[in-house]
Amino acid sequence: MNDAEVFENPCAICSKRVATKLCDYIIRYDNGIIFFRNWQRFKEVNSPGYKHETCDLPLCDECSHNAGHQVDMCPHHYKLHQQAKLPNDLARKALKQKAKALQD
Ligand SMILES: [Zn+2]
Ligand SMILES: [Zn+2]
Repeated sequence: MNDAEVFENPCAICSKRVATKLCDYIIRYDNGIIFFRNWQRFKEVNSPGYKHETCDLPLCDECSHNAGHQVDMCPHHYKLHQQAKLPNDLARKALKQKAKALQD
């Protein structure tokens, strides 16, 4: 890696290293109102290939935060992601609903 490369594609956070990833935090869902006509559509939207609009802030390895399988986030969105987690008692209820949906 040389300086020219860093200049071309700098990390947005530290500006010292070359960006190797983009923030994967979803800032906008393609389907403005979440309404699934059917199970097929639901699966399609939740499949890994489906692209919602993501933050896309360029990040170097050191400034990105891993938030799951092939999901990296900028420090700002990683913080939000942590806060977005449901407290345990609510998470249990959400899980129960997911299990119910799978049986349909
Ligand atoms: Zn960086
Ligand atoms: Zn971000």
